Amino acid sequence: MSSQAYTGGYQATQTSTQDAAAIDSTARTVHYKCGDCDQDVPLKRGEPIRCRNCGHRVLYKQRTNRMVQFEAR
Ligand SMILES: [Zn+2]
Repeated sequence: MSSQAYTGGYQATQTSTQDAAAIDSTARTVHYKCGDCDQDVPLKRGEPIRCRNCGHRVLYKQRTNRMVQFEAR
């Protein structure tokens, strides 16, 4: 079982390195939540962290992997 864990970790490291370059060109949108008005703030990579509703600059990163919640049910 130790070999399984090692293989998974090794693959994840390689994938993340390749994805970093891919995401840059794809301009993937990340959803944040405003710390002031709780508004959902979609931001593309490289855009300034700022709420478009109230202008607040403190945003919290939302959970993107809903698969975890789905499995928890
Ligand atoms: Zn706001």
